[in-house]
Amino acid sequence: MTPRSGINASSRDVRADVCVIGAGFGGLSAALALAERGAKVLLCESLKYPGGCASTFVRGGCRFEAGATLFSGFDEGQPFRKWIDRHAMDVVVDPIDPLVELRTSTMTLAIGRERGSLIESLCAMPGAPEASLRRFFAEQRAVADALWALFREPALLPPLSARSILTHVARLPAYAPILRVIGRPVRSVLARHELDRFEPLRQFMDAVLQITVQTSSDEAEAPFGLSSMDYYFRGTGHVRGGIGSLANAMVSAIERSGGSVRMTDRVHAIERDREGWIVRSRRGTTRARHVVANVLPEALERLRRERYHETTELAGLVASGWGAAMLYLVIDDDPSLPAQAKHYELVGDASLPFIEGNHVFVSLSARDETERAGPGKRTATCSTHVYAAKLRAMSEDGQRAYVERVQESMRGTLRARASELYARCAREETASPRTFERFTGRPGGYVA
Ligand SMILES: Cc1cc2nc3c(=O)[nH]c(=O)nc-3n(C[C@H](O)[C@H](O)[C@H](O)COP(=O)(O)OP(=O)(O)OC[C@H]3O[C@@H](n4cnc5c(N)ncnc54)[C@H](O)[C@@H]3O)c2cc1C
Repeated sequence: MTPRSGINASSRDVRADVCVIGAGFGGLSAALALAERGAKVLLCESLKYPGGCASTFVRGGCRFEAGATLFSGFDEGQPFRKWIDRHAMDVVVDPIDPLVELRTSTMTLAIGRERGSLIESLCAMPGAPEASLRRFFAEQRAVADALWALFREPALLPPLSARSILTHVARLPAYAPILRVIGRPVRSVLARHELDRFEPLRQFMDAVLQITVQTSSDEAEAPFGLSSMDYYFRGTGHVRGGIGSLANAMVSAIERSGGSVRMTDRVHAIERDREGWIVRSRRGTTRARHVVANVLPEALERLRRERYHETTELAGLVASGWGAAMLYLVIDDDPSLPAQAKHYELVGDASLPFIEGNHVFVSLSARDETERAGPGKRTATCSTHVYAAKLRAMSEDGQRAYVERVQESMRGTLRARASELYARCAREETASPRTFERFTGRPGGYVA
């Protein structure tokens, strides 16, 4: 189809309404939403493939998920479902069940797509305080219902218009469950229900919070922590062939909607001019009325060659977050392994923090995804959180030793909790925050 926008992306001097920097899912979504509304969009990406932290890359003939493996937004009315349908994307989302199997030193919990089945599994655990569990999940659901409804309507988020303020006032009764827990950590809500000593729930909470809001129940703010538990129950699935296939489909949809996408086109400077912005990239110069720079604050400062109070403050917050250590495995398939794609959360010692190799998120490709590693082989992406600030304070040798220690700890957790998988490991690749910095342009390799 001929692009409506008429941007000649092969030209070295391009004019666009909006230049989007970075074809991670943030940039892809922005570019597609804008192109659908008729804007003349140019999306510039450094790498030769889209997806960023949620891409599928090829190494040694095998296709590995770079970081993200379990995506959401696939339920009716949610963004990816709408885009897949509207653009007839060639993307298959498998509604696998269970979504994740949590294995710790004291329990195994299959986490399915239904809140009800999770509650029943927890109630069936020895010594489970059934009535308290049911009351807790009723409250959790009420908080999640209120907050998810809010995030479905971006117009209701700040900056607020007079109309959105009126809508909020009319909805105040629906916000009551949120108001009750605001400013408190999840752990205090567990304590109010006398559940903070019920280990299966505490472990489940710490595991789900670590992969969603990236912290534990001691620290996670209750409104977000309780709502993020619904991640499992609202539109999460396994993208067949890897999340990269969704990223590629988004690129095609942007192009079919009239936008242009330039791969291997790293942006190295953005400058203000009278009509908007000048974007200087490897493949030329783009004059755009607006720029959407889907990069970290520190990277934005580098592109603008200026520092701003807001971005410097944000950069400081990002630097106190997380990087990721990775193992990418090729597994010899075996009939004893599940045929469908499977995601595991493995915890070495449940009494220690769920980070630095003590907690490993593992995603095994499906048997029939033979495009990943060929027949008889499967791939697995394994990730764990590492302290970005701790790493940054170290010398180069210190950083290498720290990452190697974390990766060794990941192997230990894999051996202890998923030996049936790890014993069949035929090949291993590794990655560190430095790898993420190099490939996704995220300063310090900060990913959360
Ligand atoms: C290990 C790991 C596991 C994760 N697991 C999950 C999961 O299971 N489920 C989930 O939902 N989320 C998961 N996430 C989070 C998710 O991957 C990210 O939140 C999301 O992909 C971020 O998208 P983004 O577009 O904001 O940034 P990125 O993915 O970082 O994309 C930025 C893009 O911009 C490009 N770029 C940067 N600088 C420039 C430049 N100057 N010029 C041109 N291009 C540039 C980069 O190459 C990159 O493609 C995980 C993340 C990690 C790291």
